[in-house]
Amino acid sequence: MTTSSFTKKMLGRETAESTASPMPLNGPTTFLKKPKIAPSKSRKRDIPEGLWTKCRKCSVMLYDKELDENLKVCQHCNFHFEIGARERIHSLVETCSFQEMDADMTSVDILRFTGVSSYASKLEAYQKSTGLKDAVITGIGKIHNYRVALGVMDFSFLGGSMGSVVGEKLTRLIEAGTDKGLPVIIISSSGGARMYEGMCSLMQMAKTCGALAYHAKNKLPFISVLTHPTTAGVMASFASVGDLIIAEPEAMIGFAGPRVIKDTTQAELPPGFQTAEFLVEHGLIDAIVHRKEMKERLSYYLSYMTEGQRQIASLG
Ligand SMILES: [Zn+2]
Repeated sequence: MTTSSFTKKMLGRETAESTASPMPLNGPTTFLKKPKIAPSKSRKRDIPEGLWTKCRKCSVMLYDKELDENLKVCQHCNFHFEIGARERIHSLVETCSFQEMDADMTSVDILRFTGVSSYASKLEAYQKSTGLKDAVITGIGKIHNYRVALGVMDFSFLGGSMGSVVGEKLTRLIEAGTDKGLPVIIISSSGGARMYEGMCSLMQMAKTCGALAYHAKNKLPFISVLTHPTTAGVMASFASVGDLIIAEPEAMIGFAGPRVIKDTTQAELPPGFQTAEFLVEHGLIDAIVHRKEMKERLSYYLSYMTEGQRQIASLG
């Protein structure tokens, strides 16, 4: 076979192939090299950003990127997934307005607690996996035109548990709010007090509430936002003493878990027990606010709650 006939033959094959195949026309060289790698290459490229999450309520597969853009809320059934503290702050405050406080404060293993693994090693592992120093981020930022002292808990750090650092950071935040005459907003999601710190973590319940009492004495508002789940020592302290208490839809809110209560009281629990919806009906919570409306609603509440201060300021 001569070179020319070879080329002709190949060209012929190429033409036949390309008309029959849905692939676009290419030169002979490209055809010869046309590996099936091309589509798989692009699929490989897509995989890292194309992860999917199954909705825990409606079971629809959700594209992670869309889920992130939707503030971790299912577009189909409005199920609110857990959201990280940094993402939450980003969704609420004006760009570049947030000044974080006590960013480097870290827990100390006072009790030298050792269970399956030591508390010290757990702290290190969670710091690595979450990029956080502890379970809360605090700071001063602006929601529309309102400067606020904002604390946001992160459930992904040891179940959002409140140890000495969470308690101390929140107390300092509340005190800064009192000093500067700012409203305080705390967004909770927590499994309660951090058992690895024993009584030191339980003391944080009284400490945070004490700071809030001084804040209230200065006639400054505190808005408590409860997200899924807010339970135990956190619910039994600062989270339940807001001037206004709001919650995200279907958030589980309570002190002990339903099974413990059922076993203790030996009674059937009413349907929807310990959900935000149940607690609104029974008067513990003032309103349920969808995550995507949170910023607007907080700003609306702040406008209402700080009206008196603005009037005093304008008179002075
Ligand atoms: Zn869903």
